[in-house]
Order: sequence, then structure tokens, then C-alpha cells
Amino acid sequence: MQNVSEAQVQEKIKILKEHHIPLTTTRLVLLRFISSHRGHYSAEDIYQLLKEEYPSLSIATVYNNMSLFASLGIVQELRIERDKVIYDTYTKAHDHFLCLKCGKIYDIEIKNRKLPEQIDGHSVHYAHTYYFGICKECKEA
Ligand SMILES: [Zn+2]
Ligand SMILES: [Zn+2]
Repeated sequence: MQNVSEAQVQEKIKILKEHHIPLTTTRLVLLRFISSHRGHYSAEDIYQLLKEEYPSLSIATVYNNMSLFASLGIVQELRIERDKVIYDTYTKAHDHFLCLKCGKIYDIEIKNRKLPEQIDGHSVHYAHTYYFGICKECKEA
């Protein structure tokens, strides 16, 4: 695998350690993948990309570990597509745009969004907006 930032891998290993979660070979493979790929991937996508190099990998293991990583904040879980969980390896707060034509997911940077502290008496912690439409590439095609 190319361009793996070892510092980023170590940072994620530290998070596992802090939660007393053992570092298995599969987890290391997935952490290295996450640290070297910025984008939006389903468990199936990751499995397809890694299975040749790691034949012992199963889709269930990928799914279970990515779900674990999401609960630890190592990846972000997106529910932008119906019946499909997508893992985002970019964890800084940002919004998403889904193209209804090509299905591509784009990162949308948040510019000056001011969150209210309270809405109808509820305390607001964060917001995540999903936008839907036709992307610029499909509009040009
Ligand atoms: Zn498109
Ligand atoms: Zn994203």
C-alpha cells in the first residue's frame, strides 16, 4: 500500500489502546487503509480493494471493525444512501453532497456555520447536512 502516513496509523493505534481494544492483523490492515485513502467507502468497497492482498479478510470482519472504528471516531459513519452505510476516512466536521445521477459523494466544507446552542429546548452538539442533486461533472456531461 502506498503513501501510508505512519504517524496517522500510530495515532489511531493509540485510540484502540486507550479503549483496551487489541490490535489484530485485520485492524492494522484497516487502519493502514484508512490512513492512506481519503474518501467514502462501504465495507464492500474496502473488502474488494483489499481482498487480493489479504485473502483471509472477510466482508463481515471488515464491516464489524469499521463499525467499531466509527464508534471510536476513527472514521465517520454516513447514512446518505438508503440501506447502505458508508465510512468516511476524513473525520473533520464537514457536510456531504450525493449526486442522484452518478451516485458519487462529495465533501462539502462548512464555511462559517454558527450552530445554535439550543433548539426547542434541546442542547445542540453538532449538525451534519446531506445535500442531494446533480453534481457538476454530470451537469457538464
Ligand atoms: Zn454526478
Ligand atoms: Zn466526507
